[in-house]
Formats: sequence, structure tokens, C-alpha cells
Amino acid sequence: MKKQITALALAAMMAAASLAGCSSKPAETSAPETEAAEETAVETKAEETEKAEAENGETEAAAEQSENKGTLVMATNAEFPPYEFHDGGEIVGIDVEIAAAIAAEMGMDFEVEDIAFDSIIPEVQSGKADFGAAGMTVTEDRKQSVDFSDSYATATQVIIVKADNADIASPDDLEGKTIGVQLGTTGDIYASDIADATIEQYNKGFEAVQALTQNKIDAVIIDGEPAKVFVAENEGLKILDEAFTTEEYAICVKKGNTELLDGINAAIASLKESGELQKIVDKYITAE
Ligand code: GLN
Repeated sequence: MKKQITALALAAMMAAASLAGCSSKPAETSAPETEAAEETAVETKAEETEKAEAENGETEAAAEQSENKGTLVMATNAEFPPYEFHDGGEIVGIDVEIAAAIAAEMGMDFEVEDIAFDSIIPEVQSGKADFGAAGMTVTEDRKQSVDFSDSYATATQVIIVKADNADIASPDDLEGKTIGVQLGTTGDIYASDIADATIEQYNKGFEAVQALTQNKIDAVIIDGEPAKVFVAENEGLKILDEAFTTEEYAICVKKGNTELLDGINAAIASLKESGELQKIVDKYITAE
């Protein structure tokens, strides 16, 4: 079979060469196992390219380059449908597919590390993960700790209450109430500013919603898309029409890792332009 170096393979090699020396690890090694971490290898186009190359037999230069090709480790919290969630033994969702597409664009392999949401930034800062993709809202505070890519989604924070709740009809009505949030999220941060409110922090957004169904709390502040999923899965809940805020989701990298950030931004731009990004979103979110 005739040896062909595709544009993707070439781009892959260049990306791999420029990324050598960053925090990504050689393709052969697997990510460090942390106790809470669960890892899922996602087969990417990059892997397929690699396989095809191996089958075709590589030129010396190509072989040398592919040794530098790394694995991008994505830190996430897979409790956030439709962006990242468990489906059987797999972690799937919009962020996972966007990240896989980015890795493929960059010619890198790709792994998902599932950890607590408030561990994602420390994991990226320490270099154990290359980037965080977790429906993560860009905030000024977080920008002190990590660098953010261009935004890939606009999101909202919404309020969930019991369907028969006549008391809470808008964000203003949350004063003095007991509010459930997911620990370390923007919902948690906003809730802490509400006068006289009692804040109950849960490790998973779903646990906050469960507490609401059990009448342990009055409301939940959470991102709009997971809210829709959780309300659909639990009877007797509603989302208030008036959203709490609008925010932007982006991917975070270690401060100063401009090579990776530039690669991610270039990949996001090309995914937007080709319509691939919208296709991924449409697969998980049905337009109303
Ligand atoms: N968008 C929210 C935040 O960034 C929640 C993200 C999440 O729970 N995965 O804080």
C-alpha cells in the first residue's frame, strides 16, 4: 500500500512536536490513578491515524515525530449531563466529544479523568491533567488560577423549585430560603450572596435535586442544561422562567501554557466553522 501522509497526520505531527515538553505525557503511559479518579480512554481520530500509519509503515521522520505525540488528559466531573455523564461504563457528553475533536485536530490521543468538580482547577494547575472541560464557567476569580480558552457555549444558572411552590417565583424570592448547590460551582458562589439564605452544598448537582424532592431544601441553583435533565428525571419539579445569570463555558489550561491554549482555540475555531461543534451540541440538546 502506498504511503500517504494526510493533512491531519501532518498537522498532528506538528502539533505533537510543538507540544513536546508541555505537561502532556507520551502516548504509551497512562494517567496517574488517583483514588477518586476513573479513566476512560476515548478512541479518537488521532488514534485511528496512528494505527493507519503503523499499518502503512512509517518513514523515519514520521516515526520520530510520532514518538513525541502525546496524550491529552482532560479533567472533568462526569455528573453534569448533557456535558459529561456516565453512560454504561463510558463517560460521554458534549464536553467529551468537543475535547475528543480538539485532540483529533491536534493529532493527540485523549483520556478522561473523572474527579470532583472543585478538584479540576488544582489538577490542571499541578499539571496532572492538561486541561479541564466541565461546563466550566469563566470567572474573574478562576482566571487568577488558570487560563481559559475561547468560549464554546453560553449557559445560564437557573432555579429549580417544587412544581407546586407558589412562594418562589423569581431570584428575588430566594432571600432567607434554604438553597442547594453543587460545591464549588458558580451556583454555589452566587447563592452565598443571597441575603439570609442557608446554603446546602452537595458533591453532585443531582444530590441537590434529590434533596429538593425530599423537601430538605427550598430551591436549587444550577446550570440550565443539567437542570432540564434532572427535572425530566424527577417528578414534581419546575425550572423558574427567570434565569439567575448568563455565563460562558470554556476549557481551562495551566497558566502560561499558551501552546496548548493556542491549539485548543484553533481547534474550537475550526470546529465552529465546520459546523462540527453545533452537530455535537445538537446530538445532546434537542432544540425547543
Ligand atoms: N458552570 C458551573 C461552574 O463552572 C458548574 C459546572 C459543573 O458543575 N460542572 O461552576
